[in-house]
Amino acid sequence: MKYCTNCGKQISLSATFCEHCGSRQLTARPPAPQQPEVTGRPLKLPSLPDVTFKAPQGSEILKIGLMVFLNVLWCGLGNVAIGDKNGWTYVLLNIPILIASFFTFFIPSIAFFFVCWFQGWQHIVSHRMPSFWERVRASEGK
Ligand SMILES: [Zn+2]
Repeated sequence: MKYCTNCGKQISLSATFCEHCGSRQLTARPPAPQQPEVTGRPLKLPSLPDVTFKAPQGSEILKIGLMVFLNVLWCGLGNVAIGDKNGWTYVLLNIPILIASFFTFFIPSIAFFFVCWFQGWQHIVSHRMPSFWERVRASEGK
């Protein structure tokens, strides 16, 4: 049962007009489905590779030298030698690059050599053990 919106008397559910006062009954429509609230959640961008521009120090210079020397022989070999997990990918990638280079003045090979060199350098400096003062500063920050 429902009640008249005008006089308040009980009327039948299907009634369009009140049987008592004759006023038109406003059909109570179910509330419109609410739009899911758009939250201000920031768009999560894929994280960029951690590029560090630390200068190589001490034994790292030797490591980079070894890597560059091996990469002159075959791109990626040096990366394998220093433990870069992408090293073998570069070694394999060097095959089509070298083939393509025979027709393009070795430009792809030269570019790839620098890519491998840069990646290897990044690998070395990003796997550096933190220095004493870096560890002190990190523990103070907690
Ligand atoms: Zn009524």
